[in-house]
Amino acid sequence: MGARELEAVAEEEGTDAVRLLTIHAAKGLEFKVVIVADAGRDRPAPAADEILALSDGRFGFKVADPYTSKRRGAFAYEEVRAAREAEDRAERLRLYYVAMTRAIDRLIVSGALDPEKEDETPIGWVLRRVEPGAELARAAEAPVELERGGARLLLRLERYEPGEGVEEPESEPAEAEPAELQQLSLFDSAAGDAAPPAPVLPTLESLPVPPLYDVRSLSYSAISLFERCSYRFFAERVAGMRERRPAGTASGGRDGGLVATEIGDAAHRLLEQVDLAAPAVPEVEQVSSWYPAATSEEIERVRSLVAAYCDSALAARIAGLAEVRAERPFTFEHDGVLFHGFLDVFHAAEGRGLVVDYKTNVLGERTPAEVVDGEYGIQRLVYALACFRAGSADVEVAYQFLERPEDVVAAVFTRDDIPTLEQELSAAIARIRSGVFEPTPSELACSGCPALDVICAGPRLPGRGPRPARELAAAPSAA
Ligand code: SF4
Repeated sequence: MGARELEAVAEEEGTDAVRLLTIHAAKGLEFKVVIVADAGRDRPAPAADEILALSDGRFGFKVADPYTSKRRGAFAYEEVRAAREAEDRAERLRLYYVAMTRAIDRLIVSGALDPEKEDETPIGWVLRRVEPGAELARAAEAPVELERGGARLLLRLERYEPGEGVEEPESEPAEAEPAELQQLSLFDSAAGDAAPPAPVLPTLESLPVPPLYDVRSLSYSAISLFERCSYRFFAERVAGMRERRPAGTASGGRDGGLVATEIGDAAHRLLEQVDLAAPAVPEVEQVSSWYPAATSEEIERVRSLVAAYCDSALAARIAGLAEVRAERPFTFEHDGVLFHGFLDVFHAAEGRGLVVDYKTNVLGERTPAEVVDGEYGIQRLVYALACFRAGSADVEVAYQFLERPEDVVAAVFTRDDIPTLEQELSAAIARIRSGVFEPTPSELACSGCPALDVICAGPRLPGRGPRPARELAAAPSAA
């Protein structure tokens, strides 16, 4: 049964049958093999006595010259005619582009062309793009395989021979005997006048299945989000769902004051203003302008966090160093992924890099070292690799939890550690590229998650009750 309507054609797109379609009817469809036939057909130029008009108002036509009686163009006839031809040619190119991109596995383009002429037929355009050169002559003897831009093409050429296909009668034909009526034979002539064997094309190799998400760029916070809940990572970073403001936030206009991340953000914004050479707490009233609903207790907590740094031994050490930089941006590439972020404090001298990262986490029962091991392993190696890429011979990364400013967690890496660090980073990237995005509910991860109660039941998922509240106690800082 042939399909009469385009909808029916679309339904039969995957069927094992040969379909004859105009290019317009094939729009939007795809087939394993597509043959674009008669691609050597030229299109006649507009008739000379046509009245030509363009959408921009220009027009022209031909009139007979009253003196010579010859027809000549009036108004902008020649210009309009050239523009119309250019438009027709562009439209035709677009149409054949559509035809040639319908093929999934194999495309066959056939047509005749005159090599002596400036060929403006679709097959002429194809040949010009392929630039066969000397291979075109060889293709007359046997099919030639070409490789262009990673694609393989088989070029087959059959030359026209004068007289070919025209049989001159030698003499007056004798009156033919009326032939006995019989069934027309469809395939006998092919048996007697065998067509040249079809060239053997290389076996098509199946293409690898593309990853669900091919990550190209990552910030530390994106990795951290993936580690906390890969399903939320997918919802936010791939599907584009927006993070929800946690209930009770200042920006939500409610009375609940600030959540942990907002306190961390306020502390970091003040710390950015601290003069590292002479540390002192900046004006804390700024916090009210950033977070109008912040309570006086919360502003005091922010102040105490900043003061904890300013009064610490680490701050005194930083103050004694020359050319310390705050909020130093970094970017580097690894395994095809661009990493970017900021270092809270950076100093480099005599081949040693020093990175300081402030944390405003509520520690609860955990020690700073436990939190770093559990939550910030990837961040630490990203910082170290950023410094090595910048030329450091060794790197010290120090985490200062402002709740316990004297319990600094510092680790020193040398260039011998680079292969191990890179392997760990590759493994983290591979986890993201694996395409496995599973919900891992916890109070911390689900707070503010845009997927919660929309596409994910979060803590109510069967067998996935919330993980211990200790994670809340380890709420990450805004860094
Ligand atoms: S609701 Fe919780 S478990 Fe579900 S995607 Fe969000 S963070 Fe993950």
